[in-house]
Amino acid sequence: MTFRLSFKNYRLPLQIPLHTTYGIWREREGLLVRTERADGVIGYGEIAPIEWFYTETLSEAEAALRALPVEFTEKDIAALPAKFGCVRFGLEQATAEPEPLIKALRLPMAASLPSGRNAIKVLAGKLNAGFLTFKLKVGVNAPEEELDILDELVGQLPNCATLRLDANGGWDRRIARKWLTRCANWPVEFVEQPILATDMNGLLGLAEDYPVKIALDESVTRIETACEWQERGWTGVFVIKPALAGSLSALAAWQRKTKADLVLSSAIETALGRAAIFRWALAGERTKRALGFGIGEVFGEKVLDGPIAGPLIDVHWYASVKPEELWNALP
Ligand code: MG
Repeated sequence: MTFRLSFKNYRLPLQIPLHTTYGIWREREGLLVRTERADGVIGYGEIAPIEWFYTETLSEAEAALRALPVEFTEKDIAALPAKFGCVRFGLEQATAEPEPLIKALRLPMAASLPSGRNAIKVLAGKLNAGFLTFKLKVGVNAPEEELDILDELVGQLPNCATLRLDANGGWDRRIARKWLTRCANWPVEFVEQPILATDMNGLLGLAEDYPVKIALDESVTRIETACEWQERGWTGVFVIKPALAGSLSALAAWQRKTKADLVLSSAIETALGRAAIFRWALAGERTKRALGFGIGEVFGEKVLDGPIAGPLIDVHWYASVKPEELWNALP
């Protein structure tokens, strides 16, 4: 089957700027694609690179779209170099038939807490809303201060709740060891990226030395990288942002084959990209862990954010996102 492509750039201010290791992230830039199949069927997809996650750049993504033949096929998508995970995700979303939904699954969602003392305030509201998995960024303030806040936070958690700690690679090995020791006393589901993404030996060592699970996030963007970690003996958690990882069908095949322990997580994409991810997550057993998309309203507009995500996601979330509306809402 052949397709014709049109695309739009978007630049959307984030309602609450995100503090990252690489500075403050204030606006999300990306591309929406619209494809028209030879038989007239229209499809939509989203391409949302994050350069500091080692994806293609936005301009590389745009150049790859311009380089496609006027009438392109699935083969042209498959022929893109491995680096183009975001383009592959967006084009597959727009062109491939999604997997049928076999059973009415519901998936739990993790709620993100702000860093610092604010986390304790926000936690109460999230517990009332029914969330049971919480994610907290650490490595932002002084370790002693953060450890005290954690003690207090844990005191507020009901028995069945768990915490994910995300250091975004911000600790050195010494501080990481201090934290991982303390984690033995807390209901921690996993510690995400305790040290630098590139410190493979350090991460493998920490995973071996402490009972708490360690998750790779910045260390792993695409499936090929995850495979390299598996070859080196990694049996911990992989945080995968499907919008960056590439083809969803390839991701499913890899997960089935290797039984990789996955957490699916947001790349701050719009509701268009997220709808494809949720639909895919609901179509099969990809993960036994809560989804990492509980980040609230990102853009502050319903058409861009989709419905507010509660503690459980089901098919209604995905079904209420109308790709055409999103496409039309952007200039
Ligand atoms: Mg992370």
